[in-house]
Amino acid sequence: MHTAVDTQLIQALDSAHFLHPFTDLKDLQARGARVITRAQDIYVWDSEDRRMLDAMSGLWCVNVGYGRKELADAASQQMMTLPYYNSFFQTTNVPAAKLAAKLAALAPDVGERSFKHVFYSSSGSESNDSNVRMVRRYWDLLGQPQRKTIISRMNAYHGSTMAGASLGGMRDMHAQGDLPIPGITHIGQPYFFENGAPGESAEDFGVRAAGWLETKILEVGAEKVAAFIAEPLQGAGGVIIPPASYWPEIQRIVDKYGILLISDEVICAFGRLGHWFGYEKFGYKPDLITFAKAITGGYIPLGGVMVGNRVAKVLIEQGGEFTHGYTYSGHPVACAVALANLDIMERENLPGRVRDDVGPYLARAFAQLETHPLVGVAETCGFVGGLVLVRNPQTREKFKADLNVGMVCRGHCFANGLIMRAVGDRMIIAPPLTMTHAQIDEMLALIVKCLDSTYADVRKNGWL
Ligand code: PMP
Repeated sequence: MHTAVDTQLIQALDSAHFLHPFTDLKDLQARGARVITRAQDIYVWDSEDRRMLDAMSGLWCVNVGYGRKELADAASQQMMTLPYYNSFFQTTNVPAAKLAAKLAALAPDVGERSFKHVFYSSSGSESNDSNVRMVRRYWDLLGQPQRKTIISRMNAYHGSTMAGASLGGMRDMHAQGDLPIPGITHIGQPYFFENGAPGESAEDFGVRAAGWLETKILEVGAEKVAAFIAEPLQGAGGVIIPPASYWPEIQRIVDKYGILLISDEVICAFGRLGHWFGYEKFGYKPDLITFAKAITGGYIPLGGVMVGNRVAKVLIEQGGEFTHGYTYSGHPVACAVALANLDIMERENLPGRVRDDVGPYLARAFAQLETHPLVGVAETCGFVGGLVLVRNPQTREKFKADLNVGMVCRGHCFANGLIMRAVGDRMIIAPPLTMTHAQIDEMLALIVKCLDSTYADVRKNGWL
């Protein structure tokens, strides 16, 4: 079904009125935005009826694929029953209460560190703002108001609000608007390919990289540190997968100093790594979990924080108003869609499918890309993957940054009907968890084609 859209008209309206996020606005005005009009399964179509395989699940969120009628039905039913009501003044609504209970049931029961409570927002950024306020409130209630500092990591992405962008470790975001805000500081990321010392094993590097947290805690003063926040693996930073030794050492360090651990699972939760939550994959136990995106399959905005017993107990038992919340905290339509989405994920066993079937299948196919003359390393974790474009795979020599080889490759992806993202010279994927083996093969064939075209450009331009 091709919906007739006047591409030029929409592009003109867009250019005249729509300021896009994370976009060079001048550049976009010159070229005109790509108009996406419809989607089904793992494919999206533009206004010229060009089909593209969406290897990014939108923005890491459409884990169940496009065109799920059940989700549209859940939204429409809830809109006709109760489209909105707030949860401020001692009121609740049916989907919000049920979803909180459902999320609590999905998180593994680990005693003191179990998750029985949820605080709702509408996005990952808002959720991380909530985290900052909540951990500071927690320490205030415990009579340790000096514990304010939150440690995060360079190249992390935790959102785009003042707190989110500050928690994140993106230099170009910090450069705009005097960020980070006070009380947030960063350590290095566990990126073995780039930061491993010559001769050092990945496991040794993982322990060394985790040690940067202890160094930072001692530098700030342990009694002033409130929390450490990290993604299980860094997603928007380029799918940086930590060595297996990293997280156990981080856990040891936060436990040693009694610091709260926030797992930002906006990308990694809901089956992405083959588990309901990403921390299960890496075997650590957070106190707070940030979620958003795939909780609704991206069909409607919803985010939140899963609050572990350690924090929830203090907030609840000590009482007093936590002066924080959003108009849309526990939005009934968003929560109804989330419930229907989690039903699909359970029924189709998507986390298990990623863990035992399509995840390993993708891992084997993706690793083959390391034989390509442009690829330094190609690795996956569950259903995310990243590869590095390098000048020389043997020596791992990189291209000069200003050549923008990643963007050249991304251009070939679009031209060939594949949506893959470039982060510097890392090309990354996070496809829908519903992909069949045949669709994985189709995606890999497209990736190879785009790598070949990029390689041809690189040779033609004399960049080797
Ligand atoms: N945390 C992480 C780990 C993310 O990947 C993102 C978004 N990519 C966010 C937070 C921010 O989420 P949102 O864009 O919904 O505010």
